[in-house]
Amino acid sequence: MDKDFTADPQGLRLAVDLLQGNHSSVEPIDLPEALPETGSDVYALLNGLAPHVLGKATRLGDATAFAHMDPPTPWITWATTLWNASLNQNLLHPATAPVARDIEERIVKWLVPFFGMNGGHMTPGSTLANLTALWAARECAGVQDVVASDNAHLSIAKAAHILGLNFKTIPTDRYGALVTDVLPENLRRTALVLTAGTTGTGLIDPLHLAGKAAWTHIDAAWAGPLRLSSHASRLAGIENADSVAVSAHKWLFQPKESALVMFRDVDKAQAGITFGGNYLAVPNVGVLGSHGATAVPLLATLLAWGRQGLATRIEHCMTLAEQLGEFLQNDMRTEILLPPQTGVVVWRPKDTQQFDLTLRRLPPGLVSTTRIAEERWFRCVAANPNADIHLLTHSILQALDQK
Ligand SMILES: *Cc1c(COP(=O)(O)O)cnc(C)c1O
Repeated sequence: MDKDFTADPQGLRLAVDLLQGNHSSVEPIDLPEALPETGSDVYALLNGLAPHVLGKATRLGDATAFAHMDPPTPWITWATTLWNASLNQNLLHPATAPVARDIEERIVKWLVPFFGMNGGHMTPGSTLANLTALWAARECAGVQDVVASDNAHLSIAKAAHILGLNFKTIPTDRYGALVTDVLPENLRRTALVLTAGTTGTGLIDPLHLAGKAAWTHIDAAWAGPLRLSSHASRLAGIENADSVAVSAHKWLFQPKESALVMFRDVDKAQAGITFGGNYLAVPNVGVLGSHGATAVPLLATLLAWGRQGLATRIEHCMTLAEQLGEFLQNDMRTEILLPPQTGVVVWRPKDTQQFDLTLRRLPPGLVSTTRIAEERWFRCVAANPNADIHLLTHSILQALDQK
């Protein structure tokens, strides 16, 4: 028997030990330029890899990690991801993933009502959820054009390109919101894409436009999970969409790659994007062929926290963003683009000459940078419930105070 395919408790314990930070004294191995001809001892290998893989990684749960839409993940997802890796289920085949398929169906059923949808499936990200939704729009509603604001995520243009649909952007105002009065009059052949939480500024497009085109898709990759929180009404109107995308590896705190595409009429939508195959026991829905049980860590998280536990984390993130926004607004030396709508804080030193200097003085991971109307801004994203508002503001003060 090849023991490498069975659990080695000692090796797994070592992996956890290293994960907990006990690797700083370990020598990193030299990573070879070319594929090695022979293997090496796995314990030595784990020890020597840890300073690379763990030691050099960005820590998304650090007290000043506040720059990106990538959250830290709860440990229950680490444990269940380990199970997933060991089982290697393939949801394409019910025979290899009977439980995992049921689990995905179950959590989709739990989540769709919050968005006014009635079914859907998981994808490895909203890039693919958006592609899947627009594919359904082409098949079911015969759309030829995709219309979105020029602030829509690049995955929308990408999807239109792949699907052979015309991509048209409509302008946004200074804050990045879609300008409604420049919408094309005739939307009978159009998939209108509205963004709930733009990647750049966290803005929510006017969702009351949902239903005014042959197909409305709402890209709620970032802000969708607000529907499960006390901020649900910010996304009012989402229930009139034909499809919705949500990234679970953003505000549902899941490991990558995890997302959902949801449909208001799932039977109709999925009929257009389903293929059979002689060797398949069940039809293949959507873009992916083989795919894994990303639903399992999501199930575990939702069971561990319940809706309330999830909402508490998201609401806490929203509060952090509001506190940071107020702090920056009150400091004479900084300005914010607008009060944060969905946990994204866009700000800069009023003296824009100080931009680069301030950037260099801030701890890594506190801000990312973005360009709005040709001007540079800092962007903070409240995806990390363990961020410490006092440390964040202290770090910013230090960066501004240095002369
Ligand atoms: C992150 C994001 C996407 C892309 O999602 P992935 O899960 O990274 O593929 C699409 N739209 C918006 C608004 C996003 O913020």
